[in-house]
Amino acid sequence: MKTHTKPKPEPKPICKAKTRHGTPCRMKPGASGYCFAHDPERDAARTSARRRGGLRRAGLLARAVLSEDEAGPVELRTPDEVRGLLAATIRHAQTGRLDCRIAATVGSLAGVLLRAVEQGELETRLAAIEAALAQGQAQRGAA
Ligand SMILES: [Zn+2]
Repeated sequence: MKTHTKPKPEPKPICKAKTRHGTPCRMKPGASGYCFAHDPERDAARTSARRRGGLRRAGLLARAVLSEDEAGPVELRTPDEVRGLLAATIRHAQTGRLDCRIAATVGSLAGVLLRAVEQGELETRLAAIEAALAQGQAQRGAA
């Protein structure tokens, strides 16, 4: 009668790296001996690709947001123009065309600019009212 011997399990290759707890990573390694997450070469390639993608998106975003066709005039002299830039920035950030960091910077600057532009408009209107009042007083004084 044949004796049943348990087939010896082949030791599975595992990743050469250790987890952050210091225990061996048990993931299946690639040709480098590391798993996908721990492969130093892939890590560098991933980081560089991400950075290139980020810069390209940032450039696209800046052009898209600031170009006249997409976001209206670049001159931001009226509250409506600033609001248009804000709306375009939000739209592009929502669709992923604009890098969120750039969108946040544009949003923050545009918020400051909007207040300044609105304040400038108020001052202009106040000056007009003051001039009209002064003119009325002068007319009453002359009468
Ligand atoms: Zn690993």
